[in-house]
Amino acid sequence: MEELKKIVLNQETEEDRVTSLSVRPERLADFIGQKDLVANIRVAIEAAKQRKEPLEHMLFSGPPGLGKTSLAHIIAHEMQSRLTYTSGPAIQRAGDFIGILTNLEQGDILFIDEIHRLAKSVEEFLYPAMESFKIDFIVDKGPYAKTINFNLKPFTLIGATTRSGLLASPLRDRFGILHHMDFYEPEDLSTIIIIAAAKLGVSVEMDAALEIARRSRGTPRISIRLLKRVRDFAQLAAGPGRPAHIELPVVLTAMDRLKVDAEGMDEFARKTMRVILDTYQGGPVGIEALAATLNEEVDTIADVVEPYLLKAGFLRRTSRGRELTDRARRHLGVSG
Ligand code: ADP
Repeated sequence: MEELKKIVLNQETEEDRVTSLSVRPERLADFIGQKDLVANIRVAIEAAKQRKEPLEHMLFSGPPGLGKTSLAHIIAHEMQSRLTYTSGPAIQRAGDFIGILTNLEQGDILFIDEIHRLAKSVEEFLYPAMESFKIDFIVDKGPYAKTINFNLKPFTLIGATTRSGLLASPLRDRFGILHHMDFYEPEDLSTIIIIAAAKLGVSVEMDAALEIARRSRGTPRISIRLLKRVRDFAQLAAGPGRPAHIELPVVLTAMDRLKVDAEGMDEFARKTMRVILDTYQGGPVGIEALAATLNEEVDTIADVVEPYLLKAGFLRRTSRGRELTDRARRHLGVSG
């Protein structure tokens, strides 16, 4: 179950991080899908370059695995800037953050993943830094305490969040550009799969790529992960020393073995729906109760499982909690 669960959960694993380095797009032109967002970013980049100014601060929100980190890398590449990567939970104290900020060079990009998880004390530091590239900090205590003003070099903050609703509004207001990223269409995912396959040294038929795409829950990270699993099956079919080629039958066999169904639901997603059906009579059920019954973190359910169940029309949000739809009941094989 653990291994199977990991396939379709879109949180990043160590294996993803390693694969990501080889398949990650480098230029804006290589970033597939999200056309409006890409067009807006292109304008912002060109305008900033012409003005010879750093880019405005940007916030990307949306479920994990949709390309927020990749976009930050692409933007740094296009702006020929350095990128400093950190995350909300990684910055524990304001002191750590001062170190990061004061080390930034003119035009650098500071990427903060999971920015909704920044500590309040750190967040307050960020406001003047974002607004006027200044920070004030107090050194010493009691009668010797004095405030030191520090001018920072103009930089660009790119924040990423899976839960923009949890972001304090003063923080949200300080971003010049806010982008919500949505799930991808299967056609875009199949393009991502074909390009990633070439980078991984395996060929893939069009219909096979589309089948993987349809089962990827609209998420590039899941597409790439499924592609790697299918590649293993294709390699075994080809035999030692022979190049793997991915055709539709091997995709279907692999998906069957991985228990990822035609809608991209894995055992964990089906279990979530079953629990709502059996334990809560189809809902409504609050997300905390659901997480407790499943023995999972609330964040995992809220960030990872729920968004796609909602998008696929398996779950409905009501004022009293989440409810299964008739479509979900049919999917589970019980009458709606
Ligand atoms: P996030 O930061 O939103 O969790 P990532 O940027 O880490 O997502 O993307 C996950 C994986 O999917 C990476 O390997 C990345 O290369 C790939 N990916 C995401 N979006 C795209 C895209 N639009 N085009 C090509 N590859 C993508």
